[in-house]
Amino acid sequence: MIDLKQNVQYIKGVGPNNLTLLQKLGINTLEDLITFFPRNYEDRSKPKKINELVDGEEALIDVICASKMNETRFARNKVMLKMLVRDDTGDCVLTWFNQTYLKDKFKVGERYQFYGKVNIRYGRIEMAHPVFDKGGLSKNTGKIIPIYPLTYKLSQNKLRGIIENGLKIALGKLEETIPEYILKQYNLEDINTATKQIHFPDNFAEYSKARRRFVFEELLTVQLALSSLKSRYDKETDGTQFDKNVKMSEVINNLPFKLTKAQLRVLEEIDRDMESNKPMNRLLQGDVGSGKTIVSIIAAYKAAKSGYQSAIMAPTAILAEQHIQEFKNVLDKFGIKCELLLGGMRTKQRREILEQLKNGEIDVLIGTHALLVEDVEFKNLGLVVTDEQHRFGVRQRASIISKGSNPDVLVMTATPIPRTLALILYGDLDISIIDELPPNRKKIETYPVMKNMERRIEEFIRANVSKGRQAYVVCPLVEENEEFENFKSVVELAEHYQNNVFPEFTVAYLHGKMKQKDKDEIMKKFKNGEIQILVSTTVIEVGVNVPNANIMVVQNAEHFGLAQLHQLRGRVGRGEYQSYCILIYESNSRTTKERMKIMKETDNGFIVAEKDLELRGSGEFFGTRQHGLPEFKIANLFEDVSILKEVQDLVLKIEQEDPKLEKEENKKLNKLVEEKFKNRMSL
Ligand code: ADP
Ligand code: MG
Repeated sequence: MIDLKQNVQYIKGVGPNNLTLLQKLGINTLEDLITFFPRNYEDRSKPKKINELVDGEEALIDVICASKMNETRFARNKVMLKMLVRDDTGDCVLTWFNQTYLKDKFKVGERYQFYGKVNIRYGRIEMAHPVFDKGGLSKNTGKIIPIYPLTYKLSQNKLRGIIENGLKIALGKLEETIPEYILKQYNLEDINTATKQIHFPDNFAEYSKARRRFVFEELLTVQLALSSLKSRYDKETDGTQFDKNVKMSEVINNLPFKLTKAQLRVLEEIDRDMESNKPMNRLLQGDVGSGKTIVSIIAAYKAAKSGYQSAIMAPTAILAEQHIQEFKNVLDKFGIKCELLLGGMRTKQRREILEQLKNGEIDVLIGTHALLVEDVEFKNLGLVVTDEQHRFGVRQRASIISKGSNPDVLVMTATPIPRTLALILYGDLDISIIDELPPNRKKIETYPVMKNMERRIEEFIRANVSKGRQAYVVCPLVEENEEFENFKSVVELAEHYQNNVFPEFTVAYLHGKMKQKDKDEIMKKFKNGEIQILVSTTVIEVGVNVPNANIMVVQNAEHFGLAQLHQLRGRVGRGEYQSYCILIYESNSRTTKERMKIMKETDNGFIVAEKDLELRGSGEFFGTRQHGLPEFKIANLFEDVSILKEVQDLVLKIEQEDPKLEKEENKKLNKLVEEKFKNRMSL
């Protein structure tokens, strides 16, 4: 047995300097070190012929030295070495800068292997700074070399050496983490072989096998953890069964607009769940503005007319207030009583509401986290709706659910999560999707622009605000020292706007560090038009509805995920006015341009999200903070869907046969879940 938790400082090759650099990469233990997987590989195993070389690629050539080293001195003590090599298809010039020790290294007529970046100009083939071996392939060439992610000041060579030393200690002694029967059934490589091959693959077939094993393990762990969550909902107990004679169509026919096909389909699914006695556990996904609120209103109608109460949870007071208006507009005329409960209410008022809630006078209670407080007691809570779900943890969901006896649960989110990800993140929920916007929405015009257009953007804002409109300006996220820097940039920009650019308008700012009360105050003022220009961090991302605002400017747009940009864009285009989303970017990289193009051309949140996932990988998709799951070390949900399917089938089977992982053969699985999720998922 080896100690995987031993500090990485005891590994050969790790000095005090390297140690800090390793720690920056999140490598603290031997285990961290050997599970720090390469992000890419260089194939230095198969030589190419010189006439097959392609400009810009890195390649290996197997050649004869054809000239003496040519030495050119220039500037002060700078030296360039050039040497001609040749195979049976052509010539290639090798170049090195300032590496005089190579001067007498090579002999004309001898055979060598060189690996380096190919540069072809006017038919002249060159290779700069190649590494080499003499005679046969061995040390620096002749194999597949791992490239590790983000090594900063730690060179690839150095890190590769340290990992090699770590592997020397660990290989052959690693304890298998996956049960034998699963390894066999799914044809997975054992942990020792896979660990060797993922770092130093003998060939790409071996690499693929190793990768498959780790992806499988990672996805299996997540799915098992979700499964254990799901089993917490007691499937044996009956849920609430709502009255079949209460027809949703009563409300639907009474609305000032026609529901979209997607809304109707989703309502049918919800209606079916509500009438069955199995507790509903449903995720409702719908793009910004797709009309999720009305769906929850109709569900609450069904609950109330069946004699049950509903709880509607919103992440902020502003959103809760927005909701109560909409609920009242629809439900008042049916004699359904809706109330609002917020933190910081006057004691007398609060007591009154709690009283009415307990004796059943209130049918629908809408509020924030304030609903979770212990003394909030329902008479018979039958339906729980949480809006903008990603702001609520699993624990909070469980806490509101416990205020009823197995109430039906509807979770609404505006983040259009690609289906594969939704399965991972919400494996414990059924999924409904509103994939259609109400008709007659004006398309928001999106303009990606470079930073030097700032003056023109300001004039554009001025022109619109002068006509009575309002504007949002979202400030860049600064990664280092995040909270402080974001705070600073928001406040500074707001002051600059107010004092120097827009003295004739009222400018205000909003950021995450402000007290909820102050944020609500600012939003209220923005809503009723007292503030015209709102400078903000992404705190305004979710749910806010100010139809009069028609401009959304996002600074440093390249720092945001596409899904997030789409959310921000969704803050405008909510009223009758033509709306604009202006994305300011500085980076001229190809990815940035590609991403800006997607934003300009696509207004469908699901497509944006899929593309985002494709471009950035699932790890970054949500950022870490918004969900309780760890980032994936190796799985890529875009590429690994088929492995995910295998894993899901397996987990389904395990759920049926051994849900608590008690059988001897599943002991290892228990450990897997425990180890990885100790702190993250505990309720
Ligand atoms: P979201 O899904 O982002 O929460 P909302 O529920 O806030 O969207 O709906 C946005 C707006 O669209 C609201 O003003 C709502 O009244 C309106 N709306 C919802 N459904 C329809 C529809 N079928 N036709 C027209 N307007 C609709
Ligand atoms: Mg909403």
